[in-house]
Amino acid sequence: MNDGPVRDYFRNIWQTVSTILVGMRISLKYCFAKTVTLQYPDVAPAIAPRYRGFHFYEIEKCIACDLCAKACPVDCIYIEKTGPRKIDKETGVAAGGLMTRYAIDYAKCMFCALCVDPCPTECIHMGNLHDLSGYTREDMIVEFTELAKDGLQTPQPLWMQKDDLPEWAEKRKREWLAYGHSTDKLTGKPEQRRQEMVKALDPARPTGK
Ligand code: SF4
Ligand code: SF4
Repeated sequence: MNDGPVRDYFRNIWQTVSTILVGMRISLKYCFAKTVTLQYPDVAPAIAPRYRGFHFYEIEKCIACDLCAKACPVDCIYIEKTGPRKIDKETGVAAGGLMTRYAIDYAKCMFCALCVDPCPTECIHMGNLHDLSGYTREDMIVEFTELAKDGLQTPQPLWMQKDDLPEWAEKRKREWLAYGHSTDKLTGKPEQRRQEMVKALDPARPTGK
């Protein structure tokens, strides 16, 4: 007598039941685990020390060499300049042509950090800010040269632009506005850095804005 179909029938039932039990065992474990709810944005989000958020860009050190753009696997860095730029060894800042555009399209960016390592002047970094929202794809393109005109190195998420910020966000905002993440010869000299940022855009531009 051929008992193949009968055996298959019971094997299928056994496999269905056993795989459901395996899945349910994992679900049950979490049913009784302690729930952890983070009251963001009132409480700071738990971010790992090596978290890769929006880039921060030090325009005053950028020589517009395009190495970051060439290393980007999705071609989402756009650079335009009026001429070559070179680092002055004494001051540690770049001089020469002007930066007319440095932009990153975050609709494409994978936060892989492959653009960071090739930079010869170490002026592009992965920052720790997150939460970029917008209504169009164009909103996802961050014009770092425009930010630099306002003295910013990194885009400010919407929550950071509010007046009434929780303490942790206020602290993080202060650090960014004081260029607390930049470590070079201009460390501790925010006003001088601000002036160099403006010079990279247009030496004739007043430093106020
Ligand atoms: S993090 Fe990766 S994808 Fe994003 S700009 Fe850099 S190289 Fe390109
Ligand atoms: S690799 Fe560095 S110096 Fe060269 S264009 Fe990119 S950010 Fe500027």
